[in-house]
Amino acid sequence: MTPRSAEFIAIGSELLEPCRYDTNGSYIALRLGEIGVPLRFRTVVGDRLDDLCVAFRAALARSDLVIATGGLGPTIDDLTREALADVLGLPLIEDPDLLRGLEERFRRFGRDMPPRNRLQALVPRGAEVLANRNGSAAGLLLRPGGKVIAVLPGVPHEMRTMMEESVLPRLGRTGRRFARRVFKVAGLGESEVDRALAEIHAGAQKVDWTILAAPAQIEIHLRETIVGDGHASEIERLDREISGVLGVHLFARDASTMEEVVGRLLLEAGATLATAESVTGGGIARAITRVPGSSRYFRGGVVCYSDDAKVRTIGVRPETLAAHGAVSAAAAREMAEGVRRLLDTTWGIASTGYAGPEGGGETAPPGTVHLALSGPGPGGAELVRLPGDRDMVRERAVQAALDLLRRALLGAAA
Ligand code: ATP
Ligand code: MG
Repeated sequence: MTPRSAEFIAIGSELLEPCRYDTNGSYIALRLGEIGVPLRFRTVVGDRLDDLCVAFRAALARSDLVIATGGLGPTIDDLTREALADVLGLPLIEDPDLLRGLEERFRRFGRDMPPRNRLQALVPRGAEVLANRNGSAAGLLLRPGGKVIAVLPGVPHEMRTMMEESVLPRLGRTGRRFARRVFKVAGLGESEVDRALAEIHAGAQKVDWTILAAPAQIEIHLRETIVGDGHASEIERLDREISGVLGVHLFARDASTMEEVVGRLLLEAGATLATAESVTGGGIARAITRVPGSSRYFRGGVVCYSDDAKVRTIGVRPETLAAHGAVSAAAAREMAEGVRRLLDTTWGIASTGYAGPEGGGETAPPGTVHLALSGPGPGGAELVRLPGDRDMVRERAVQAALDLLRRALLGAAA
């Protein structure tokens, strides 16, 4: 059977709560994508029998392949077996091999099997049992009416092993796979990117095209279905066009983050960096140091929040602050120069601004941020006006600062 459409059901009430994520679904989407099977629906459902039946019925009505995880344990809230039997109109019968395996497992740990665990040996009649090497909940695979439904344990590593060892090999060869490419853009808004790429998008027939507005960047995700041994020719063609239109705004064509890109450029240039941060409160340094090996180019930084700290730590002149205020291009420039001098680096970068909710009057509303760069060439300052609440402004200011440095490094390399 070569499934054309697949869907995933994440079972577990905790997954409906704010602090637990359905990571199983992402993994399954990835693995199915690698064999060219698109995931069309992804459902999260709590541990309630009625709801599980609704989810299974809907899935089986519209998809060739249904994969579900969770609810296979021995506790009262584990209802997956029951729901499946109900929906498929099959009786639940005890599988003697499965029962023996469960008893054996408990013996190995030197314990008697609690009576409730016997429930885990129940399977809808005709189901194929998928072994679980890492836990007690076996998986189940059924083929109702030419479709495939597989239910796997909720515990992520148990699910993954079973997916690799038992489910994927049973799906047959599809002769297809997905090629993907992510383009990451800085310094442009979503609508600007949309407009810039509208024509290219209209000519992109053979790829799935998604634009995502991540907090401080725009991402364009392309997915091309490759048949047989072919290669991603459409993605390569679009790559050339997209790169041409977006130019320097395009900072990555893979999963790289802005701080990784900047780090690589600094390394290539043999350059070092120091930061002087006011509005970003150390966020630039934090981003830079997220990258392993950043000690090779990052010397350190100063969070100089008050005027006094700006003067005492990195030598911003009191006259500059008196004449222009701390949120000004002049102050930002002196901050960048000051920290570069203090730590003796190739580059100094600085941020000062209003993150909100309060701003600096009519001409400087919240989101007004001055960034400055001091480096080998003539220094520069940039005024950016960033939308969003306090957290957003701070995050965007970090990204804008790193992008300013990135563009300077590219310019210096050219
Ligand atoms: P099993 O079928 O393996 O017995 P279960 O649902 O009965 O699974 P739970 O105790 O509910 O077992 O879940 C086991 C662990 O797996 C929990 O930490 C749960 O949050 C996690 N988990 C379950 N489903 C998912 C999912 N879709 N994505 C990520 N984690 C999950
Ligand atoms: Mg559960």
